[in-house]
Amino acid sequence: MLRAALLSAAGNRGLARFVTKHGRRLGAYRFVAGETLDEFMRVVASTNAAGMRVAAGLLGEDVADRAAAVAVAREYETVLDRFAASRANANVALKLTHLGLAIDRDLASSNVEAVARHAGLSGNFVRIDMEQSAHTDATLAIYRSLRARGQHKTGTVLQAYLYRTAADLESLLDLSPNLRLVKGAYLEPVEIAFPNKRDVDKAYVGLIETSLLRGGFTAIATHDAAVIEHSIEFIRSKRVREGTYEFQMLYGVRPRLQADVARRGHALRLAVPFGSQWYPYFMRRLAERPANVAFFLSSMWRG
Ligand SMILES: Cc1cc2nc3c(=O)[nH]c(=O)nc-3n(C[C@H](O)[C@H](O)[C@H](O)COP(=O)(O)OP(=O)(O)OC[C@H]3O[C@@H](n4cnc5c(N)ncnc54)[C@H](O)[C@@H]3O)c2cc1C
Repeated sequence: MLRAALLSAAGNRGLARFVTKHGRRLGAYRFVAGETLDEFMRVVASTNAAGMRVAAGLLGEDVADRAAAVAVAREYETVLDRFAASRANANVALKLTHLGLAIDRDLASSNVEAVARHAGLSGNFVRIDMEQSAHTDATLAIYRSLRARGQHKTGTVLQAYLYRTAADLESLLDLSPNLRLVKGAYLEPVEIAFPNKRDVDKAYVGLIETSLLRGGFTAIATHDAAVIEHSIEFIRSKRVREGTYEFQMLYGVRPRLQADVARRGHALRLAVPFGSQWYPYFMRRLAERPANVAFFLSSMWRG
């Protein structure tokens, strides 16, 4: 209930204006690495210094016009240039709606290809995040077309809550894909997604095992300590090769678990978002955990 309310509150314009205006004070910076590239690069440096990799996410979703979508692609290229200049252990993860998917699929496709080509100049990598189910087909089609056009340092994401995902994974295996596996963050109807968390968790573990055994590169992106322990044991017992997997978590979420995974010598990448358009991202993080809402409300109360 609370999750659904928070996810739908993300669309409330009055609330969005209020939260955006007071974001820093309301605690958004626990999950967001600032609004500017310089603020973000400081977080990249400290994350790398703590032995963790970074996946940069420029915050924002649907854009209003073609020029805005192209501008987002150029911003990602600037981020990649900063990574190369500072030799950061960091790549980028982007959303196709941010690159114009809702306006024109070819626009999003050519934008992501331009970013991937740019990343290639410094040997870097680009991942396409997975958004609402309305975009799943387009996202997978664009990922396949990137690979078909020789952009091999690219990857995408599969969401365990969708019934279709086991079949999607199977159909991608020929590509030796680089996949981030997640449980799924959006509100989806029961016709297409498991309504019960237990079913999502079970499907998630199945995807992880299949991908570790038969995929290219597997990013296990979760804060679920039981799934992480299961994966570590699976990797050990099946002798999954180092360098073919990593763990991923979100900046600001379960920092003690992050430190523990890194301390035990497992590759860990933090998804670190930045930029002024952080409101929908922040609301999804609140929806994931009631304690975050308590934290948010107490920040409001403290003024
Ligand atoms: C690196 C990364 C990239 C992602 N990319 C995508 C994507 O492209 N598309 C997509 O749909 N989803 C994405 N997600 C979100 C994902 O789908 C889940 O919504 C999110 O990770 C929460 O699920 P969980 O696997 O952590 O497990 P859960 O079972 O939800 O949580 C496990 C434990 O972690 C705690 N926890 C979870 N979230 C939080 C939080 N925000 N704050 C504090 N504690 C928390 C829970 O309380 C619980 O104890 C991504 C997640 C990560 C880590």
